Amino acid sequence: MADSVVTSNTATLEKYMKLDQKGCVIAEYVWIDSAGGLRSKSKTLTKKVTDVSELPEWNFDGSSTAQAPGDNSDVYLRPVAYYPDPIRLGDNILVMCETWMSDGKPNAYNFRHDAAVVMEAHKDEEYWFGLEQEYTLLGFDGWPYGWPKNGFPAPQGPYYCGVGTGKVMCRDIVEAHYKACLYAGIQISGTNAEVMPAQWEYQVGPCLGINLGDQLWMSRFLLHRISEEFGVKVTFSPKPIPGDWNGAGLHTNVSTKTMREEGGIKAIEAAMEKLSTRQAEHMEVYGSDNHLRMTGKHETASYEKFTWGVANRGASVRINRAVAEEGKGYFEDRRPASNADPYQVTGIVVETISGKVEG
Ligand code: ADP
Ligand code: MN
Ligand code: MN
Ligand code: MN
Ligand code: MN
Repeated sequence: MADSVVTSNTATLEKYMKLDQKGCVIAEYVWIDSAGGLRSKSKTLTKKVTDVSELPEWNFDGSSTAQAPGDNSDVYLRPVAYYPDPIRLGDNILVMCETWMSDGKPNAYNFRHDAAVVMEAHKDEEYWFGLEQEYTLLGFDGWPYGWPKNGFPAPQGPYYCGVGTGKVMCRDIVEAHYKACLYAGIQISGTNAEVMPAQWEYQVGPCLGINLGDQLWMSRFLLHRISEEFGVKVTFSPKPIPGDWNGAGLHTNVSTKTMREEGGIKAIEAAMEKLSTRQAEHMEVYGSDNHLRMTGKHETASYEKFTWGVANRGASVRINRAVAEEGKGYFEDRRPASNADPYQVTGIVVETISGKVEG
C-alpha cells in the first residue's frame, strides 16, 4: 500500500519474543477510556495466574485519558476477567478491567458495573448474547484500505462474503484476529467480509450475561493490537463513508432460557412489546453517530420508531425465519451501532425486558 508507515518490525521482534521470562508472567491490563477506545499497560507478575482473584488491583493516570481531573487523577483498575495472551504466548495473559475512583464509585465510563448489577439480579433468566461486530479497516491516511486514492471503488455488490483480489482487503488481519481470539478463549463464532469493501464482521457468542461484554471488548482490543502490526487502522465508526456505502452495526442477538424453550416465541413477543416502549432510551446508548447510519436505507430501520418482523432486515428487530417456524429461539436487535458499548447494550436489553434494579 502506498503511504503506509511501518510502525513495527515483527520479524526482528520474533527472536526477543522467544526469550525465557525466568518464571515471570506479563499481564496486559486493558480498560475502556472516555472515548470508547481501549488503553492498556503491562505488569510483571511473579507467578502464573489461576484465578481472577489473584490479580492485583492497579491504577493509571486518569487525567491523561480524560477519565479523571488532574488534581484527583488516580483511577483504579479492577481485574474482572483474564485470557491467555495470543501475542506473548506462554503463561502471559490479557486482563479485562473495570475502572473505579478513589471515593469507591465506578468511573464515569465504567458501564460494566451497572450492567453486571442488573444481570446478577436476573441471572435465573440465563440471558445469552451473540453480537455481530462490524468494522472498517483504514490505511495510515484514514481512507478505507485498498480504495483508490482520492476515489472510490466500483459500487457495492461483489464485496459481501467476497473472494478474490479487489473484492476483499486485508484478509491476513482477519485471519490473524480469528486465530488470536480462539487462542484467547474468546467465543468468536464466525467472520465474513461485508457489503462495503474493507469492511468486515465477526461474531462473538452466544455468551452468558456479562461475559459477552468482557469478551467483545477483549476481541476489539486484539483487533486494534493485531492491526497495529500490519500498519492498518481499525474504525468502529457506524458510517465511515457517507453516501451509498453501507454503515457498520453491532447486531445484538438475545435470548433467555424461556425464549429458548418450547413455545418461547411468546416470551419473544412479550419482549417486543417492552422494547417498543423504550426506543429513545435504547438509542441513547446504542452508539454515537448512529443517526447517520440508521437512515432506513442499507438494511437499517428508522432511528425514531421501533418496528419488528420476521426475516425483515429493515426492522429494528428481526426474528429469524427458523425461529418463527420452530416457535422458540432468539431475536436480533439490529439497532446498535458498531461503536456501541456492549455492556450498555446488553445491560439495557436486560433492564427493559426483565426490569430495572434500584440501588
Ligand atoms: P446474521 O444472519 O444476522 O448475519 P450471524 O450469523 O452473523 O447472523 O450472527 C448470529 C449470532 O447469533 C451468532 O453468531 C450467535 O452468537 C448468536 N446466537 C445464536 N443463537 C443464539 C441464542 N439462542 N441466543 C443469543 N444469541 C444467539
Ligand atoms: Mn509514569
Ligand atoms: Mn452477521
Ligand atoms: Mn453484517
Ligand atoms: Mn445480523
